[in-house]
Amino acid sequence: MKNTRKHRSAFHTIMVCLMMSMLVVSISGCDEDDEVADIVNAPAATDNVPKYIFFFIGDGMASPQVNLTQAALDDPHFRRVNGAITLGALSLDQFPVAGMATTHAENQYITGSAAAATALACGEKTTIGTISMNPAHTLPFKTIAEMAKEKGMKVGIVSSVSIDHATPACFYAHETSRGNYYEIASQMDDSGFDYFGGGYVKENAADIENQMDAAGYTRVSTLGGLRGVPVGQKCWATTDVYDGKALNYEIDRIGTSEISLAQFTQEGIRLLDNDDKGFFMMVEAGKVDWACHANDAVSATHDMVAFDDAIAIAVDFYNQHPDETLIVVTGDHECGGLTLGFAVTGYKNTFELLKYQKTSFKKFDYSAAADFDQALAIMTEKFGLGDTTLDPGLELTARDSIRLEDAYNRSMGGAPSPDPTDDFLKYGWYDPFTVTITHILNEKAGIAWTSYSHTGVPVPVYAMGAGADLFSGSYDNTDVAKKIMTAAELK
Ligand SMILES: [Zn+2]
Repeated sequence: MKNTRKHRSAFHTIMVCLMMSMLVVSISGCDEDDEVADIVNAPAATDNVPKYIFFFIGDGMASPQVNLTQAALDDPHFRRVNGAITLGALSLDQFPVAGMATTHAENQYITGSAAAATALACGEKTTIGTISMNPAHTLPFKTIAEMAKEKGMKVGIVSSVSIDHATPACFYAHETSRGNYYEIASQMDDSGFDYFGGGYVKENAADIENQMDAAGYTRVSTLGGLRGVPVGQKCWATTDVYDGKALNYEIDRIGTSEISLAQFTQEGIRLLDNDDKGFFMMVEAGKVDWACHANDAVSATHDMVAFDDAIAIAVDFYNQHPDETLIVVTGDHECGGLTLGFAVTGYKNTFELLKYQKTSFKKFDYSAAADFDQALAIMTEKFGLGDTTLDPGLELTARDSIRLEDAYNRSMGGAPSPDPTDDFLKYGWYDPFTVTITHILNEKAGIAWTSYSHTGVPVPVYAMGAGADLFSGSYDNTDVAKKIMTAAELK
């Protein structure tokens, strides 16, 4: 296996060098010779067993979420941290290897986060709602995080949603139902993992805190506190401001002192990078999914940028340890049936209209409005819709106004439309006025949604570093975990 990889890698290197040499000669003479020499001398990183493994999971992230973020990054509003603002500015765009993975569960084509994360964590199919156990619920599956721990690596689990939520849970817990939050969180200390970062726990928090204290974890909830935890100390880091028990949406978090996903990742590296056997860290962007359930493209995009900022931290680490680091990025499933393109806008996109949205759907508050006109004024302030001085594309058509007024009346307790399917198509499980606003803004930008649930399209897989070659091609989601096991020699 190793030899095959080595030979294939060497063959690729030779071919690339030949092609580069021909290109250089044919285009511009000798100026790029140094660059070609660098490629020839570059270390064959893919032959190594990675000592540092990053596994990034975008919940609800498939190609449309990535593509929308690439498009939105053309506007400076969406990129506040990492420099250049052009298409192709994502850290993801630097990854040399890409593949594509299926997402289906054992018992259902369109998956949920528990079955999907079990596949990604254990390399095994299971049923909807199951946390790293077999479909019959008789056996736990060993996770790659547990395998890494057994190998002597340090292990970190980071998520922007509550740490007992399905995706992070599937790396340290084994439960028959994702809804058993207390039982899941009670397995954090049993795992012996070194770092938990991100959202809080949903049930019996005081009891979970006692368990973690007894197991020797330092608990912190501010960035200063997190930065003060000594290297090598077991740590459970949360934040002191939540949306439920999750981190706030990035669009609402930015500009506050709340810890970002990138900061949880950065501090995780600091705490875990203290052992000659290396580390495994899983980082989940959980709220891309939640924003897509709600059909809020702007909040999803901001959370994608926060995710990409966390990935950038790992890429920086890779650049310091290129021979010893593997970074894998994937999604667990698509959410919302997002696409770039809408019937009314045809071939046109005006993504720049998205920048006028200033709040997540969750934090949008129009309770001060006494009537529809006042609610519209608050909408215009928070979403730009209706303010043609900002952009003529924000003009409300007669049809928009009717949709908004119907939705507002429904939010104010008006009767649903006689056909429940019609009502559900328009509003899903969401506040009718708010979801109508995001629908209209998204549609004006040329973005459309087909669902308030997950969809069954495949997800991209990106890889960089030692073992990255394994991740090219098209395969099952269980193979993502198996490829990490192969690359890192985990069992
Ligand atoms: Zn979901």
